[in-house]
Amino acid sequence: YLAKRERHTVRRFQAALSTAALERLELEQALRAGIDRDELRLHYQPIVDAQTLTPVALEALVRWQHPALGLLPPGRFIPVAESSDLIVALGDWVLREACRQLTLWRAQWPALRMTVNVAPRQFAQPGFAEQVLTLLADAGLPADALILEVTEGAVMDEGGVPHEAAMGHTGLTLALDDFGTGYSSISRLHQLPAQWLKIDRSLIQAEGSAGSSVRPARPIVRALITFAHEAGLRVVAEGVEHPEQLEDLQTWGCDLIQGYLIARPTAPELLSLPALYNRN
Ligand code: C2E
Ligand code: MG
Ligand code: MG
Ligand code: MG
Repeated sequence: YLAKRERHTVRRFQAALSTAALERLELEQALRAGIDRDELRLHYQPIVDAQTLTPVALEALVRWQHPALGLLPPGRFIPVAESSDLIVALGDWVLREACRQLTLWRAQWPALRMTVNVAPRQFAQPGFAEQVLTLLADAGLPADALILEVTEGAVMDEGGVPHEAAMGHTGLTLALDDFGTGYSSISRLHQLPAQWLKIDRSLIQAEGSAGSSVRPARPIVRALITFAHEAGLRVVAEGVEHPEQLEDLQTWGCDLIQGYLIARPTAPELLSLPALYNRN
């Protein structure tokens, strides 16, 4: 009886496995077709100066306008794209579209910049930096208009040595995304081949020692800002949702703020930049 039961369990396990694999494959094919049918969209979330709350940059965040399922967040399809070459085509579209949109906005706000998330596989493509520079030139944008958001793993090896491709020489700005997750280490901050440091929202939203549930993880975030400044980095706080968090971050000298408190990621036609520029 037991043996039979075991066989049954194994068969069910295999069935589940192949279902997951099949779903992945189906999702990958559907996404490929969706990209061809122009179903990707970019939403934009402001990154503002911590003191004046004036927009400094917008982060481009991809969505998939699925014909049957509606607007899908990146968490639903980016992982599948990142595990295949599809992320290269997707990432290329994102870069182009973000530059196109930025050119339109810069006619009115010439100092506005754009940040774009770049996947490790995309960043590792031979000639990636040159491709980005060409794209910028084609869009009539200077190299400092674009900031590439990368994760630690994409730009450094395990020993903390920056990858060749981390292009200190190209004039492109790198922002280290999601700092505080993964293997981020404060002792490595000065080695980072990046100009911006984005503190992950898990640290910003962590419960404070005072017992208030909305205060940032005080000692850590405070120390992080200090060390990042000593390493010459500009600090962005992600996921700022509460006025108390903003207050703390302002007190600690954080440079830039991003989060629902300022604005949610928004479709370009609905994003009210004039209101953000004139809020003071
Ligand atoms: P990320 O780059 O760390 O982006 C920040 C995420 O936090 C976004 O989720 C944003 O909507 C969310 N967020 C911003 N402020 C707040 C807040 O105050 N509270 C909360 N709870 N969340 C906030 P989103 O748009 O779902 O993107 C998720 C992730 O997908 C991004 O994390 C990024 O890693 C990835 N992603 C998005 N667009 C692209 C892309 O074009 N290419 C690649 N490779 N990855 C992308
Ligand atoms: Mg990002
Ligand atoms: Mg982030
Ligand atoms: Mg994040």
